[in-house]
Amino acid sequence: MLTVTTIAGVRARREEVGRTGVRIAFVPTMGALHDGHLALVRRGREIADEVWASVFVNPAQFAPGEDFARYPRDLEGDREMLAAAGASVLFAPATKEIFPRPPATVIDLPALTGGLCGAQRPGHFRGVALVVAKLLNIVQPHVAVFGAKDWQQGAVIRRMVADLDMPVRIEVHPTVREDDGLARSSRNAYLDVDQRRAAVVLHRALQRGAGAAAAGERRGAALEALLADEVSGEPLARLEYAAAVDPDTLQPLENVRGRLLLALAVRVGATRLIDNLLVEVS
Ligand code: AMP
Repeated sequence: MLTVTTIAGVRARREEVGRTGVRIAFVPTMGALHDGHLALVRRGREIADEVWASVFVNPAQFAPGEDFARYPRDLEGDREMLAAAGASVLFAPATKEIFPRPPATVIDLPALTGGLCGAQRPGHFRGVALVVAKLLNIVQPHVAVFGAKDWQQGAVIRRMVADLDMPVRIEVHPTVREDDGLARSSRNAYLDVDQRRAAVVLHRALQRGAGAAAAGERRGAALEALLADEVSGEPLARLEYAAAVDPDTLQPLENVRGRLLLALAVRVGATRLIDNLLVEVS
């Protein structure tokens, strides 16, 4: 696996590889890799000839006071995991390489970012959209693979790519979970033993919501209340939001018909965890 730290280096490699007709799948990450990220790499290998990954902790998507400075970083470990998973190129730029000056460009999708995480992290998705647009322009992959765990992020990126006619296909891969159902996340490393046990409440709440929907509950507000109730039963957890929304528009659903996204953000101690579940009701 080749490690590249400059945009010029990626472009040079891209041009070389492009001449051979090789198809590239791209997996952008913030590092501290776990099996969720590696599942995206493995998926990339199924749908393309080479997988290129990036590790970049994007300052533009953290608000002041969030965990940018202490976000887990382990580039050497990430390198080994990506190489073992079969990635061909790792792009690991320094902050200055991606943001040599404060960007004057804003990519904003207010229709998709007014609710859920966007409501609680103002500016977060502008930071995500900008860095993903930059990375897609730098790498120019045929397909980019994202995880369903960050559902709102996937929706924002899909729409940005469509609106801006970016020549890339976006694929969303299902969430990878621990044995007890907790979604794999770099932020799980912040949890102590008791918090780790408590964190399963997100999955339990989503399952309870899905069960109620399967049993005929069609009122979005009632499903949201069920999720909130389950979270309130866990003393170490504090609910940020519980939502039952349309999976594409992310708008609240008064009455569920067809597809439904149940989504949660919960604080366990100081750690903010998110999870979601796509539910199909007949
Ligand atoms: P991050 O490093 O957290 O920015 O995540 C990089 C990519 O990995 C994003 O597309 C995430 O949605 C995806 N991802 C993170 N955790 C998981 C997981 N548990 N299962 C599947 N994809 C994930």
